[in-house]
Amino acid sequence: STTSRSTSASTARSAALMEHARTVTPGGVNSPVRAFRAVGGTPRFIASAQGPWLTDVDGNRYVDLICSWGPMILGHRHPDVLAAVGAAAERGFSFGTPSENEVALATEIVGRVEPLEQVRLVSSGTEATMSALRLARGATGRSKVVKFAGCYHGHVDALLASAGSGLATFALPGSAGVPASSAGETIVLPYNDVAALEAAFAEHGEEIACLITEASPGNMGVVPPAPGFTQALRRITREHGALLISDEVMTGFRCSASGWYGVEGPYDEGAPDLFTFGKVMGGGFPAAAFGGRAELMGLLSPDGPVYQAGTLSGNPVATAAGLATLRGCTPQVYDHLDRVAHTIADAAHDALSAAGVPHTVQWAGSMFSVFFREGEVRAYDDAKDQDTEAFSRFFQAMLDQGVHLPPSAFEAWFVSASHDDEAVEAVLAALPIAARAASG
Ligand code: PLP
Repeated sequence: STTSRSTSASTARSAALMEHARTVTPGGVNSPVRAFRAVGGTPRFIASAQGPWLTDVDGNRYVDLICSWGPMILGHRHPDVLAAVGAAAERGFSFGTPSENEVALATEIVGRVEPLEQVRLVSSGTEATMSALRLARGATGRSKVVKFAGCYHGHVDALLASAGSGLATFALPGSAGVPASSAGETIVLPYNDVAALEAAFAEHGEEIACLITEASPGNMGVVPPAPGFTQALRRITREHGALLISDEVMTGFRCSASGWYGVEGPYDEGAPDLFTFGKVMGGGFPAAAFGGRAELMGLLSPDGPVYQAGTLSGNPVATAAGLATLRGCTPQVYDHLDRVAHTIADAAHDALSAAGVPHTVQWAGSMFSVFFREGEVRAYDDAKDQDTEAFSRFFQAMLDQGVHLPPSAFEAWFVSASHDDEAVEAVLAALPIAARAASG
């Protein structure tokens, strides 16, 4: 079984730490997916990391295919990032005043993402989407928000709403503690369904402040926009005077060298009104951002009436890490990510095919995931229809062989510039055995 391994000698320290952690922290973790509830077994407590490798407290080594859920695009402890962080920390940890690194990071982001004019820095992706939402509501004077089922935008009340039954229903609270009044301002629609979008905007268009979408969903597994879908989002929001927010927290600076995944080009040709970023741009430290054109961003305090602030926003150490990481994201890095991702995805496909395990691999740039089901996944209902038991067996067999996948069937697999031949070979060697385990 998947749980019997948790008592093996080689995970004794992780198991003991987890047991203690549960007494002082809910579920033993500070973010739920880390608890391994979806796959069973003992979460590995990681003691250190280098390049593409994680080492746990029992001394086991794993090829890292989580990469901190995206940020570690250059690999762990990249020398340039380490040096930048060290130098920044030498100068001070946090000032609560303006500092030069914040300006440098904002300049780098604005320089990379063509339509962006201004960004405001925050400390997490959740803060970025929450603030973008407030700005959109402030700018339009409207309150309703449209999101897609299966898209995750952080744990913002209005964005944790889950779909009710039917197509364009108002949402139900997606968590205890989210008031119905908050979820009730959210309309949840199926992804890749232009007709549902048209219908929702026809009915509620004048009340809708914004539509928020992952540039390419990665939080239900990778579900790329169907051809024309992103353009339809732009057209329909514009027709109804609503803003389009492209959540690039996961895709930003990962899917492509140009930084973003939405429709390329200036605002009047289809760029979103607001963007959110996180993960890669923080280089593994708490830094995130939201931005758009100067006129819209000018509505934020201190210039405008929309309040937004943060004690640690633009933190000097975090911005140093983000800046060094973005500067390290060269075209060669993206070529390498592409190559490594395709090598691993092809091998996973071959191994699962050979073992007779139904599966589908989907892509957004160099971001991919493996669904344990047959046939294309276009929306959340498709994604939910997979064999999560088969994934759990696959996951545990990979882990036993020293490859740490994201512990859920609904996640992208992340690679880094540091995934070299040794790391890739280790993954390729593990796949056939894991595929046979998945087949039951
Ligand atoms: N938006 C997207 C697309 C994400 O993938 C995430 C996190 O996974 C978030 C927002 C929230 O970011 P954070 O976890 O930094 O709050």
